[in-house]
Amino acid sequence: MKVLILGGDGFCGWPTALHLSGQGHDVTLIDNLSRRNIDNELGVASLTPISPIDVRLNAWKQITGRTIAALHMDVAREYDRLEATIDRLAPDAIVHFAEQRSAPYSMKHARAKRYTVENNLAATQNVLCALVETGVDAHLVHLGTMGVYGYGGGLRIPEGYLTVEVDDSAGARTQREIMFPPDPGSIYHMTKTQDQLLFYFYNKNDGLRITDLHQGVVWGTQTRETRLDERLINRFDYDGDYGTVLNRFLMQAAVGHDLTVHGSGGQTRAFIHIQDTVRCIEMAIDNAPKRNERVRIYNQMTETWRVGELAKLVSELTGAAICNMPNPRREAAENDLCVDNACLLDLGLEPTTLRGSLLNEIIDIAQRYADRCDDSRIVATSQWVQPREPSRQLGR
Ligand code: NAD
Repeated sequence: MKVLILGGDGFCGWPTALHLSGQGHDVTLIDNLSRRNIDNELGVASLTPISPIDVRLNAWKQITGRTIAALHMDVAREYDRLEATIDRLAPDAIVHFAEQRSAPYSMKHARAKRYTVENNLAATQNVLCALVETGVDAHLVHLGTMGVYGYGGGLRIPEGYLTVEVDDSAGARTQREIMFPPDPGSIYHMTKTQDQLLFYFYNKNDGLRITDLHQGVVWGTQTRETRLDERLINRFDYDGDYGTVLNRFLMQAAVGHDLTVHGSGGQTRAFIHIQDTVRCIEMAIDNAPKRNERVRIYNQMTETWRVGELAKLVSELTGAAICNMPNPRREAAENDLCVDNACLLDLGLEPTTLRGSLLNEIIDIAQRYADRCDDSRIVATSQWVQPREPSRQLGR
């Protein structure tokens, strides 16, 4: 298949590009390198020494003989180029990762909030609009988030659609399937709930074939392909804005920092290993929805953990101490999370679990590159609610 990967230089996009190319697909990636620029803005860098994109692509060619084409393009701001590219390439599938993906960054300040909304919604709108305008019948696979469900309101979270019982217009009791009520917990998550509505509309109105993967927190860094050569290494974010919770704990343990648990640690999150992420995307593109099928939604996660339990697991493995800190997020101190993920399991996903041996690989990586860590950037500084002077406080 011809596959276009938007955001193909990122943490999930790069290993996906390698994996799909390795599987024999003809891959082109697009990225505006905004993630690398945000690192510069924040004064941090991936713990792993990621190579410039050209070095990455040349290394892949040298090692495997396979070519991945790359275009430097802003999907949110260069609509005409995007449309022309989709028209020229006529891909069978487009995988869309090209969004600002950190919840803490999206809550940092007005500029980050506005950037996240403008970038994410314009990127999604542009790719959908370009598909309609060109008439290219590509299957769009989008990386969404489990965060669109909030905590699921104490319900078992279905794969996107909830069956409800309501009265029809004649007053008879009837069952309907509706999109699960969105309940975003940050500006970033809010953009993902709005993406869902864009997908709903373009699917209903234009018949676009779309799969939305509601992904859990990704852990790990290496996949089979990124392990092949140091120049292919994947990024490893450990800072308070972009570091995902488990990677951050393992990093903290490696440099002798306490494991910083925000709040009680009773928050439950859904997780998936990066190797399973790339496999799920491959399965999604191999199983495209049929014409006139509604938007397909899969919960792309393999297990749930309480943040405090994770810290305990890492502490037992490494001896690191646990330190509870105030929670900068506006969320319940504790929650349960019960998630249905049968679709990807039925397609053949064999989950990589946290109890497996891969935790040690990340500890090794964290230790190998520990001298690249800037301790001062580990702790999260974004606040969900900004302290204000009394005269400037809003209604409540
Ligand atoms: P990332 O920031 O590492 O990668 C995103 C890539 O998209 C970056 O390379 C960035 O430069 C690029 N990009 C952003 N805006 C762009 C634009 N307008 N034009 C072109 N390129 C653009 O993030 P990631 O961790 O790889 O996440 C990828 C997707 O998966 C995101 O949409 C994210 O919401 C979703 N996701 C990630 C996680 C996770 O734990 N990492 C969890 C759930 C969902």
